[in-house]
Amino acid sequence: MMICRFNGGNLGLVKGDQVIDVTPVLGLLPAQHYPLPQKDLLIEALPKLRGAIEAEAKKGTSHALSSVRFEPPVANPGKIIGAPINYKAHVEESKADANIGHGRNITSIGDWGMFLKAGTSLIGCSDDIVLRFPERRNDHEIELGVIIGKQGNQIKAADAMGYIAGYTVALDMTLRGPEFQCFRKSIDTYSVIGPWLVTADEVADPDALDLWLTVNGEPKQKSNTSFLVYDIARLIEFASSFYTLMPGDIIMSGTPEGVGPVRPGDLIEAGINSIGQFSIRVAPEYA
Ligand code: MN
Repeated sequence: MMICRFNGGNLGLVKGDQVIDVTPVLGLLPAQHYPLPQKDLLIEALPKLRGAIEAEAKKGTSHALSSVRFEPPVANPGKIIGAPINYKAHVEESKADANIGHGRNITSIGDWGMFLKAGTSLIGCSDDIVLRFPERRNDHEIELGVIIGKQGNQIKAADAMGYIAGYTVALDMTLRGPEFQCFRKSIDTYSVIGPWLVTADEVADPDALDLWLTVNGEPKQKSNTSFLVYDIARLIEFASSFYTLMPGDIIMSGTPEGVGPVRPGDLIEAGINSIGQFSIRVAPEYA
C-alpha cells in the first residue's frame, strides 16, 4: 500500500498514476487531549486502518499524481534520526574532501553514533528547499527513509523488521561546516520525505534497493542499499540501543557517495527502486 498526504492535510491512497482521496479515514484516529503523545497517530494506526482505506478508496475522488501537492507522508515524527558515514564509498569521499569532513576524524558510524534532525526541518517534496548561508556549501544527500511503526527499545536486529511501518525517499540536506550535525542538518526545509510511504509488506528487501539522485538532470549519486555499512536492521538495533523508537520516527539510513553542492534554482530529482521518486526545487533565493 502506498500512502500519501496531499493538498492541505488530505490522506491519499496511491494507485498507478492516481491519488485516491481517503481523507475520511482520518476520522477513525483516536481523539487527542493535552499532553499530546510523542508519536504519529496515523502511522501507529496504519495496520488497523488498511481495510477502511481500501473501502474508502472505492468511493473516493481520484486525482492525477502530477496534479497534487505532496506533504510529508509522516506528519508528526517524534524523531528524525540520521545515520552518518554509512556507505563505505561515502566514508572515503569524506576523508578525501576536506570540505565534507571539516577536520573531523572520519572513523565509523559505530564510533560516531547517530544524530537527530529537528522536526521543524521536515517538508514534503512539493515544497522548495530554501538554502541558507550562501557563502557555504549546501549538499544533497539521498537516503532510504525508514518509518518506524511501533514502539520499541533495545530492539534486536533479528526482530527489527517487525518494527517498520514503511519506507520513503529521503533527502538529508546538509550545510557543510564545523558545527555538529544536529545543527547543520536541522535548518528549515533540510529534511525532505516523499512523495509517499510504501508499507513494509511491499518491500521484500530494503537492503537491496537502487537509489539515485540528479541535479539539473546531471547524475550525482547512484548506488544500492546493499552497500550500507550498517544495514536497516542493524540501524534499528543501534538507534534503539540509545533511543526508544516510536511510531512515526524516521530513520534516514545514510547517503552513498556523490554528495555535492546545490544552488538556488537547482532542480533535484531523487528516486529509490520499489519506493518512488520525486523532483524538488531549490528555491531561487536564499532564506
Ligand atoms: Mn545523511
